[in-house]
Amino acid sequence: MSSSQSLKSPSNRLKEQGNASFTDTPVASPDLTPARESALILHPNSQTSGFFARWRRSFIAAGLAALLSPLTFLWPGEAPINPTDYTERTRRVLKITPLIDGHNDLPWQLRVELHNRIYDNGFDATTRLLGHTDLTRMRQGQVGGQFWSVYVDCDVNQQHFEDPSWIIRDTLDQIDVTKRFIQEHPALLQFCETPACIRAAFKSGRIASMIGIEGGHQVGGSIASIRQMYELGARYITLTHNCDNAFGTAASTVRAGGADEGLFPLGYEAVKEMNRLGMLVDLSHVSHQMMRDVLSVTQAPVIFSHSGAYSVTKHNRNVPDDVLRSVKKNGGVVMAVFEGMFLNMANPGASTIHDVVDHILHIAHICGWECVGAGSDFSGGPHMPIGLEDVSKFPHLVQALMERGATDEQIRMFAGENILRVWEEVEQRAKEMQAGGMKPVEKEYEWRKWHLAERDDPCNILRKSQV
Ligand SMILES: [Zn+2]
Repeated sequence: MSSSQSLKSPSNRLKEQGNASFTDTPVASPDLTPARESALILHPNSQTSGFFARWRRSFIAAGLAALLSPLTFLWPGEAPINPTDYTERTRRVLKITPLIDGHNDLPWQLRVELHNRIYDNGFDATTRLLGHTDLTRMRQGQVGGQFWSVYVDCDVNQQHFEDPSWIIRDTLDQIDVTKRFIQEHPALLQFCETPACIRAAFKSGRIASMIGIEGGHQVGGSIASIRQMYELGARYITLTHNCDNAFGTAASTVRAGGADEGLFPLGYEAVKEMNRLGMLVDLSHVSHQMMRDVLSVTQAPVIFSHSGAYSVTKHNRNVPDDVLRSVKKNGGVVMAVFEGMFLNMANPGASTIHDVVDHILHIAHICGWECVGAGSDFSGGPHMPIGLEDVSKFPHLVQALMERGATDEQIRMFAGENILRVWEEVEQRAKEMQAGGMKPVEKEYEWRKWHLAERDDPCNILRKSQV
């Protein structure tokens, strides 16, 4: 099978599942069937009683909305609409607010299936592909901004405290292919390194495209490399993926029975430097103690690019309530993940759009609507929920939130205003820190080896001149 043919089928290496340390996760065989295309699928007969309970709540919320509000919603410049016309309300809200997704792994698919050769092999992202993501369906999904995830492997069998030479090289490969992919579609996508750019791209009708690095292992335990990744345009780093690194403890380590040692000394320095740079600190994938440690020291709001609520689904990748309360104080945002493993641990393939709504409403309940966003994990997770099968389905999630009583203003915060506010605050804090004279952090990994550059090298002329 040619590589172009393979990209047109769902990836056989969706990375959220490929983790040896998720040992207590029931390993369902990956769902490699084409995305279930029968739209917003609601199967009343196959759902549990929880399904009916949720819908009962929806009807009650809709009834209350109809009783308590005027019969029409007034929008400047638009005809009045019935508040229960969720489709039209969604269209209008997403017309004025960019829907910004925190995490999409299409670059990983480009790597696995095309070895990053996007110009030949008949690959065309503007046509419909069989995975979760293509530009045609992003348009249908009214996506206004996308953090593209840049990721290379990390597993418990690898040592990532020091840099195995290929990891930074391959991370550079992924940054490169993501930028080339964006450049290849100038009418549809715009590369962005600032929140102001997102707003401008949205106004011009393009999907703002940002880069996030999904794992602290990808900077080789080097603060200098964090700075250089920022220079290349990466705007968040997830401090760990599914393995511990020089910065701290991964959620998957704890899930596999390991100790939760939280944030490591170099992790404090990494957070400090990211704050100084104005780079978003992403706490998806880190252990609960590491979440707490980072929140106790960060000088700027944090993000969770793709995480759910632990109280709703007790998976270590999700965020516990005490951390949600800290995020509220911190002013950060939790972008709710869609991957079924984090929604329905017993049967990820049976997760539905309503499970995602449950997570979002819980985060909003504990942390406030100022705290929530969307972080799909499309093209990275194997079990997308029924009703949220691909990037075209984002409006259905907004409609489902409205059915459960969310107001237009709450939806605007969820869709994009929260992550924009967080990023603007992160930028502001960085400006203040730099104006205050804070120098770039020079701390290094405690057991760092300086290859061919040890201090007792006889060629060390600085030291010789000092004696
Ligand atoms: Zn992930």
